[in-house]
Parts: sequence; C-alpha cells; structure tokens
Amino acid sequence: MSDVPRTGAQLAGAQPAGALAADVNDWLLSFDGFDPASESHREALCTLGNGYMATRGALSEAVADPDVHYPGTYCAGLYNRLGSDVAGRHVTNESMVNLPNWLPLTVCINDGPWLGTDGMELDEHRVELDMTRGVLVRTSVVVDPAGRRLRLTQRRFVSMRDTHVAAMSTTLTPEGFSGRISVRSALDGRVRNSGVRRYADLPDDHLTGHRSHHEDDEVMCLHVRTNQSQVLVSQAAHTRVFVDDTPVGVPPVRLTDPDGGPTGAWVGQQFDLDVTDGQQVRIEKVVWLFTSRDGGSGEPATEACSWALATTHDFEALQTRHVVAWRHLWEHVDIGVGADGVVGRYVHLHLFHVLQTMSPVSVFADAGVPARGLHGEAYRGHVFWDEVFVLPFLSLRLPQIARSALMYRYRRLDMARRLAAEEGFTGAMFPWQSGSNGREETQTMHLNPVSGRWLPDASHLQRHVNAAIAYNVWHYYQATADTGFLTSYGGELMLEIARFWASAATYNHALDRYEIRGVMGPDEYHQAYPGGPPGIDNNAYTNIMAVWCVCRAFEVLEVLPPAAGRELRDRIGLTRTELDHWGEVSRKMRVCFHDGVISQFEGFDDLAELDWDHYRQRYGDISRLDRILEAEGDSTDRYKLTKQADVMMLFYLLSAEELSAILRRLGYDYDTELIPATIAYYGPRTAHGSTLSRVVHAWIHARANRTESWRLFCEALHSDVNDIQGGTTAEGIHLGAMAGTIDLLQRCYTGLELTHDLLRLNPVVPDELAPMEFAVRYRTHLVHLRFDGSTTTVRMDNDEGGPIVVEVAGVCHDLAPGHTLTFD
Ligand code: BGC
Repeated sequence: MSDVPRTGAQLAGAQPAGALAADVNDWLLSFDGFDPASESHREALCTLGNGYMATRGALSEAVADPDVHYPGTYCAGLYNRLGSDVAGRHVTNESMVNLPNWLPLTVCINDGPWLGTDGMELDEHRVELDMTRGVLVRTSVVVDPAGRRLRLTQRRFVSMRDTHVAAMSTTLTPEGFSGRISVRSALDGRVRNSGVRRYADLPDDHLTGHRSHHEDDEVMCLHVRTNQSQVLVSQAAHTRVFVDDTPVGVPPVRLTDPDGGPTGAWVGQQFDLDVTDGQQVRIEKVVWLFTSRDGGSGEPATEACSWALATTHDFEALQTRHVVAWRHLWEHVDIGVGADGVVGRYVHLHLFHVLQTMSPVSVFADAGVPARGLHGEAYRGHVFWDEVFVLPFLSLRLPQIARSALMYRYRRLDMARRLAAEEGFTGAMFPWQSGSNGREETQTMHLNPVSGRWLPDASHLQRHVNAAIAYNVWHYYQATADTGFLTSYGGELMLEIARFWASAATYNHALDRYEIRGVMGPDEYHQAYPGGPPGIDNNAYTNIMAVWCVCRAFEVLEVLPPAAGRELRDRIGLTRTELDHWGEVSRKMRVCFHDGVISQFEGFDDLAELDWDHYRQRYGDISRLDRILEAEGDSTDRYKLTKQADVMMLFYLLSAEELSAILRRLGYDYDTELIPATIAYYGPRTAHGSTLSRVVHAWIHARANRTESWRLFCEALHSDVNDIQGGTTAEGIHLGAMAGTIDLLQRCYTGLELTHDLLRLNPVVPDELAPMEFAVRYRTHLVHLRFDGSTTTVRMDNDEGGPIVVEVAGVCHDLAPGHTLTFD
C-alpha cells in the first residue's frame, strides 16, 4: 500500500491497469488497443445503463468466453432461483438474470471470416466512455486475412430518457478497397449466468421458452421466460441500413437458429452490400426491452414488438433525448473539484455508474441497491447493507431515487417480519442479502478459490443491515422533511426495526445489561469464536446502532403529527409496555471495552495477534486473509484482525457528539481519547478486504490525519479503475465504494450534517480538491456550496419556501431564498 499516491499530482501519474489509458479530458474514460487480459474489466467499466436495465460494454461481435468477453444485460430487480447439490448439500441461489444479448453485430469482407472469429484482426482499436452524454464510442479498423481494411465506428447508449430503449449505430468505411461487405445483426437468447468463475460449479441456465420471429424486414423479436420466477422478457430490434445516408432498398436475409442453443433462441438478419472504397455504410439498431415486471405496460412480447414497429427509430433523435436527460442529471449531481483531471474524471466515473444503477428512470422499478451495480454477476445482483454508502448521497441530490430504494425495503417489510418471527423475534429482521421477495438470499456455502474447498457461510448473521435501513430512512427524512413518507412508510420501517432490536437483546442479570448474542458485525472474518458455533456476542457496532435505532424510533413518534403517530402505533400494535421496554434496552445495552478502546465484540481482546509482516512477506496482498488462512488450515476467527471497518463504522455514521451521548445514556464514561485510541488500535489490524473499508477509514481520518485520509480516499477512488482486488471489478463495479467516495466529498470533507432542522457545515476540504462546489437539495431548496480553501460560500436559489438555518463553526445563521452567506 505504500506505493499509493498521496497527492493529486502523483495520482495523475497512476495509470490504470491493462489497456486503460488516462485521458486529459475529465469526462472521458478511454482505452487504447485490445487487451484480452483486461477486456472483461473494461467491459464492466464501460457498462451502459439507465437504472432499469444495463448492458456491459462488450464488443458487439463478442460471444461469452470466460477468459476474455462477457456480454451481459440485466434488468434491475429481475431475479431467478436455481437449486443444486454442492459439497453434499442442496443449495438454492437466487441470481440477477443475464438476459438475451441485444448487441450482436458483426461483419465480413468478400465472404471471408466474420469479425470475432479467427482471421479477422483489430487495428487502431479505441473505446471511449463519454460520461457527459452516456455514450460509448468504439473505433477500430477491421483487417481481413487479405489485409483489406474496414474502418468501424460505433456509438451505443442505453436511454436515460426512454426507459426501454437501447441503441447502437455502426458506420463501416472501406479503406482502400471496393467489394462486398456483409453485416449480421442478431438478438441472442443463448445466454447463461457464467460471468463469475467461482460459481462455475453451480447451475447457470435461467431462461426457457425461447421464441423468436421476424415481424418484417426491419423488426425482429425474441422472447424468453425465467424458469423459476416466470418473468417474461421480450426484446425487439429495429434495424435500418444506409449507404452514404441513403436507406438501402434490398431486404435482409432473415436468419434463425445457428448451431447451438434451443430452437428460437437466436434471430438475426444479414445485409449483403456491394460498396466502393470510401463509401459509408451505417447500420442503426434500436432495441426495446420489456418484462412482465414492468408497471404501465402490458404483455411484454406485444409491448416490445409494437413499440419497435410503431415509434421513431431515428438513432440521432433518440440519442438527443438521451443526452438531454444526462445533461439534466449532471446539473443535479455534479461535483466540481479543483484537483487535476484524474480525480475529476474518477469522480465523474463514480457518479456516472451510481446513476446508471439507480436513476430517475428506475424509480418505479421496485429494485434495491445492488452491491455490484447492474454491471456483472458477482454476489448474484443481491442487495446488502451497501445502501448505507449510497443513499445518503442520493437523499441530498435526487431524493426521489433514495425514496424508491427505501420503498423496495418497505414492500418487503412483511417478509422481514416473517424472518424475525421465524427466529423467535418480534419486529422486522431484514435479510443480509435480499433479492426478489426479501427472503434471506445469503448463500449457505461459499467457495474458497485458494483452497478449492466449499465452506459453510454464516454471513447471514449480519443483522446490522437493519441499522443501515433505519439510518437511511432517518437521513432521507432529515434531508427532505418528507413527513408523508415518514407517516406512511418510513416510520413503520423504523419502529419495526427498533422493535426487532429490543426483542433481539437479552437481559444479563449478573451484569444488569442487555446483550445481543450470536450475530456478526461488518467484519466477515469473524464468523464465530475459535472452534465455536456461528455468531459472536455483543458486537459494538451492532449494539450501539441498535440503541441509535431505538432512540430515533422514539424521535419518529415525536415528530409525526399526533394523529399519524397514534395511527401508526395502532397499526403495528405498539404498546406502552413495549415502549418502556425499548427505553430500558436503550439505557442498558452492553458495550465491551479493553485497553481504553471499544472492543469489536466481547472477547476480541482474548484473540491472538497476527504476524502481519510474516503474511505480507509471504503473500504480498493479504486483503483476503480469510482465504489465505483457511487454505493453510487456520482461521481468521482466531486473530485480532478485521476484514473491514467494523467498530470504525460508528465514527463513520455517528458524530462524536452522537456517539458520546449514546455511551453516556448507557452509563459508560466517555473520554475524548476513546475515539482516537480506538482508531489507532483497529487501523493497523484492518485488512481492507472490502472496498467499503477504505471509504470509512478515509472518513474517520479526515480531521485528525488529513494525509492518511487523502491516501485512503485516493485508494478508494481507484478501487474499480485499477481493479485493486485483482479481478473483482470485471464481475461488477463496487457501488458502495463508488458512492462512498462521492459522499466523502459531499458530507465528510465539508462536515455537512443534517440535524434537527439545521444544515451544519464544518469544512476540512483537502487542498487537492479546492475549490470544490456543488448544490444539495435540502428540504425544498437548492443550496449551492463552494469551498475554496479559505472561504465557504452558501447560496440559496431564489425559490419558494422560508429560510433555513445553517450552522458554521457552531454559530447558527438564517439563510433566506436568494441570499448568500460567506464564511472565512
Ligand atoms: C463486504 C460486505 C458487503 C458485500 C457486498 C463484502 O465483501 O464484506 O460488507 O456488503 O461485500 O458489497
């Protein structure tokens, strides 16, 4: 880690791996040359999506090949379950389904080999992700075995304006020859979920009922169904061909079912064109995708085909609508940083992928926050606690998106109640991994690729996911004052989560304390006490956040209009006795300490110290100590180490004032040394085995150790571009780390806190970022913030609504619409 750049200037020199090339333009990510080894990494980074659906940036001629290419198209929230036997156990896994590939478009010269097969080479190959417009541009020269050169330029987008539309325009220009060019375009339903090697032993065949047909010479359709969840998916492609801008009159050859795959799983068209040197052939392929999960539409086959037949097919017109939508989005979310181009570009890249996963287009999609975006198949598209790194950013920018992600949880509240009841608790216990209906989707076995062994997985014991949901509801409410949401949905979520925590806490008579036993904290390297059954006791993060949840639940009852509060209490049958019990739990929860620091869990201090130097010397990268130690016949459970921020999460989510108030409420002494001592203790014992970890550590160092904070911020900013976990980005971007780095700019370095109707600022903006500026949506207002190192400016748009209170350096100021406050 010592080679990590410490300043923006050094960062500029850090070239991403493989064929990636840093470009001076901070809105462009570009890749020169074709590098098979890094192609799937590039595909993930070049994914295009609109929150409803996304398609990896695979080349249009690519077919799935685990070593190089993995075309993948996914719809938010579209899952399917498959069962199988693994290591003597029957397991069922639910996966976000890889849908038919709409990209296929390939070309051959004079009946020679097709592009994508042996004999055809790529020259002058460059791929550019244009983030301002959401367009992927590819240019190559295709060289056939006879040395003929055909220039190929391709633009592609997934519309941020027309939910169901994806489109690709390809221009082919012979350079130095005249002859026959054949173009083949297809929809390919012969796809599987084979994007993650670790899952190779598991079934991957999610689609059935393939049907396809040509509607006419321009429109072809493909329909499939998922084999367990029974979701219907239809695609219709409208393809037009032009030579030098004149539509080609000759109809295509209609193709069906090449070798391989079920009947009806592939449909295509072939255009054979005689062209002269320098003539331009343009193929515009516009695709509509519908599923039976969509609201506001009918049966998907009819929808897809009828839209393809009926609406505008003009690529340029559709692209213009899409680009305008992106322009508006950027106006809402952009963060201007004064740093060199690389920081700015990666900030844009992170914003871009967050918005491609969750967007204004997807607010009706009934989908949660998938940990790896819609960009690949790692973690099977599941929804974890990662939303705690994503929604706070969105609540202050595009709150309707945050609200929609919270509604995904609300719709699964009954399932969470059922999960709690099944474990003997009351209230709502949300699953660690969630998918279609909110039942627990955490795998029960996982593969250690180092040892090759399948191992039991107890990570579902991470009950702290409930605190993340409550935190997000509360933060959303603080940002928006959306009392309607709190009354109808958010309040119920928070009360039922508080109720769960109160029921999960057991009373220890000897200590006169409540305890939460048999759980896991965010640190997944401690699944159990050495040799013991799954679960550890009194994880400090879990216990303290449980108290926080109960305290906020009381606050919900205070802030709701009295009638609404009464109705809510009635609806969930909340009694005075129960509330008294919550009060008791929130004053007597147990937190363990040792050596003047917060113990990650009870007994952490009894574990052995790991010889970090030994493991570093032996293995180099030791972030996945769990795999290394298991392969050696040892276990991380035995050591004082942590996969990722665990106790540290407390300093990430709670201010020092909030944390000290909770500890005092619990009757513990609070010494101002506690936080720095705890940070100093866990910092060197953290393996950063999750990309989320550096975000948290960068945050907690922001004030006392700015150099360290900047170093960790830079590492987090490079997580996916540099694929710092060595191969994981190809399986999907890390959405939490992407949004988390943005939130470091938005809330951490600005000291932006929302509390009790005031917006607090306490900036410590690194010199490398200044001047930094952006606008947050606070309540009904747009508030512009600018930090230029010595001065902070807060300006409110001249909109409707009364003044807000802004607190800077402990002093409150009224800020009225149309006014500006400036602070030194
Ligand atoms: C981390 C979890 C995270 C999950 C999905 C795991 O590696 O330990 O905290 O929720 O990845 O991103």
